[in-house]
Amino acid sequence: MKTPAQPGSSLYDSDVFRMACRQFDLAADLIGLDSDLRERTKLPKRCLTVTIPVKHDDGRVRVYEGYRVQHHLSLGPTKGGIRFHPGVTIGEVAALAMWMSWKCALVGLPYGGAKGGVAVDPRALSPRELEGLSRRYMQEIIPFVGPSIDVPAPDMGTNEQVMAWMMDTYSNQVGNSVPAVVTGKPLAVGGSEGRREATGRGVAHLVKRQLEALRIPLSEATIAIQGFGNVGAEAAVALRGHGAKIIAISDVSGGFHDPRGLDLDSALAHAASHRGGLAGWKGGDAISNEALLELPCTVLIPAALERVITPGNAPRLKCRVLAEAANGPTTNDADRVIEARGDIEVIPDIVCNSGGVIVSYFEWVQDLQSLFWTRAEVLEKLYGLLDRAWEAVEAERRRLRCPRRLAALALGIGRVAEAKASRGLFP
Ligand code: NAD
Repeated sequence: MKTPAQPGSSLYDSDVFRMACRQFDLAADLIGLDSDLRERTKLPKRCLTVTIPVKHDDGRVRVYEGYRVQHHLSLGPTKGGIRFHPGVTIGEVAALAMWMSWKCALVGLPYGGAKGGVAVDPRALSPRELEGLSRRYMQEIIPFVGPSIDVPAPDMGTNEQVMAWMMDTYSNQVGNSVPAVVTGKPLAVGGSEGRREATGRGVAHLVKRQLEALRIPLSEATIAIQGFGNVGAEAAVALRGHGAKIIAISDVSGGFHDPRGLDLDSALAHAASHRGGLAGWKGGDAISNEALLELPCTVLIPAALERVITPGNAPRLKCRVLAEAANGPTTNDADRVIEARGDIEVIPDIVCNSGGVIVSYFEWVQDLQSLFWTRAEVLEKLYGLLDRAWEAVEAERRRLRCPRRLAALALGIGRVAEAKASRGLFP
């Protein structure tokens, strides 16, 4: 009998989608996932592709392509960021949506995973063009999203302002204010205290826990961070607050290194006055993004793109802890190299950067209730959920005798599969 083609495989096929599928297969094998549940737990439920015409300041209209992928609908609405980056493809968005599913299930949030993206370089757009793109993208996906359907949030290349435009566009369409349609908004329109720094703070919290387990004092820890956007910069600030020394930072334009420690306030001030970028900063020796990853440091934090730790550089990493703030920074083959080395503790992405979706969940809950929490309440609840997830992963790792990534995936995937099994298959 002819084997049926894998549904979706041709549409999403790409290095990053295959990587997410490979991770799934390894974890599903480990927990012996029932064959009837396997494919329907793995593959994205549905996707939407849109074209987005934007009138540029020079009077010309350019058309961009955008996507929204909803991975599974078994636990509630879907949740996930929107990325504006030139490299966005539907395969990347689908992989990111899968990881959101495992992450939400792992930390116990009532969501399936989703992700969205537009293939565009937002830095090449004027503020007016960026607003036009953001509003038109939301306009096109309105039938696909909503507070109980799918709730977007910021990701690479998008921010609070973009979320405010999207919330406004949706609200104008339905005729009343709907703050719960997106999270990561400014406080003035129903954002949550603590959301902007949640992902970076969560990364720092888990790094602190890992270093304590290794008995490495934070005051002796050196940190190298690739990506100085929302997540990378906030992680740097929080880790400095814990007493660690930031020795390298970078963004898309390149990086800076000083083994004695960088002047973080100066870097933050430069980025704030240069549309978030580090280009032109004079704070250390220039270093490439590739070389940064191989610096001797206690903690290496990739906080930009996926697939930057490869079998090529994995043997040369000189960190004690790899804290995956970015989604999918380590390829499957690099995982094997790191496992064989045995000298690097990996804090896998679906745990490491889960602070963002945790506080996004808090924002959604506050918006639905129109009852807002203090910053102290938000942070206390954030650390509580992070600690619970971390301890669950450590227990699962001991139980299954496997690397931490597989333990985290096994928990997340197992919970999604259990929900599907309990609900049964709608005819
Ligand atoms: P951001 O747009 O605020 O910052 C991205 C940073 O990466 C910028 O400094 C940019 O210059 C840099 N960058 C882009 N391309 C690069 C390249 N080719 N080489 C080196 N650096 C490059 O985005 P962010 O929100 O900080 O997201 C960063 C990562 O964290 C992404 O992988 C994202 O999926 C993940 N993440 C974000 C959140 C969140 O709450 N924002 C939550 C979970 C995970």
